[in-house]
Amino acid sequence: MHKRIIKDRIPQELIDTIVTSHNIVVFSGAGISAESGIPTFRDKGGLWDKFNPEEVGTPGGLLSLVMNHPERVLAFLKESFETMRNAIPNEGHIAVSELEKLELLKTVITQNVDNLHTEAGNTNVIELHGNLYRFRCIRCGRKEKYSKKQFFELADNILSQDEFNFEKLLSSIPRCTCGGIMRIDVVLFGEPVQDMDLAYAEASRADVMLVVGTSGVVYPAASIPVVAKRAGAKIIEINPTISGFGDIIDWWIEGKSAIVLKQILDEVKRVI
Ligand code: NAD
Repeated sequence: MHKRIIKDRIPQELIDTIVTSHNIVVFSGAGISAESGIPTFRDKGGLWDKFNPEEVGTPGGLLSLVMNHPERVLAFLKESFETMRNAIPNEGHIAVSELEKLELLKTVITQNVDNLHTEAGNTNVIELHGNLYRFRCIRCGRKEKYSKKQFFELADNILSQDEFNFEKLLSSIPRCTCGGIMRIDVVLFGEPVQDMDLAYAEASRADVMLVVGTSGVVYPAASIPVVAKRAGAKIIEINPTISGFGDIIDWWIEGKSAIVLKQILDEVKRVI
């Protein structure tokens, strides 16, 4: 049974566990980016209140929408890209990168596609659901990372139309050196997750796993903390709401990640 902790009373035992660890792994979800202005699936009034994830988040749903309601695709892309364009790492992402600099943390495994862990300075980030700023050739599989500036220049060019124009979309999409179409390298519902073997390997080497801002209902990603727990890691969850991870959690710190992670970092720095 987990120990529920209120954020302003983080016990010394938990800080000691972090400070004496040799391999902290962070497993993050949409919640860690909430305070960067990117809504989670469950935020009221967020993107996913307006757009159905089953419709815009599956290959079949997207194709059907392009054919039948292209204006909805355009509205979705415009709104979601605008949210991403303005997002910068928050105190939570920065605290995670500081833990790497202190040589306590080696790996971040994230379900997010927003690139914010990398922007914050983490160097070993496993992105299970891909990266919005990377393209993948649908013919040969070659991947190419764009800078945010490059990405939004391309997006602005494609989206600067009042009505959805399929021809314009096709002609603006980048091409691979092999001639194939480059698609955005994010994992849609029903598509295989990326680097899962690598993530399991890192999870099974962790002695502490910080599970941050994830509801634990999206599989197979949600099995990562289970693998870490079975291999002997202590599991610390940071989330304002209890998640689906149930009894595998050793501590649940009830609070927002930007506040709690900063607080943990300050305590760790005080001790070491
Ligand atoms: P989710 O939307 O299912 O759950 C978000 C979780 O974050 C909830 O448990 C919520 O209580 C918690 N949360 C909300 N605000 C928080 C805060 N300030 N601090 C800490 N926790 C907070 O997200 P999920 O579990 O990551 O799964 C959803 C899927 O959607 C993932 O596959 C992810 O790829 C994708 N997604 C990504 C982004 C992004 O890249 N930033 C944003 C939305 C959705």
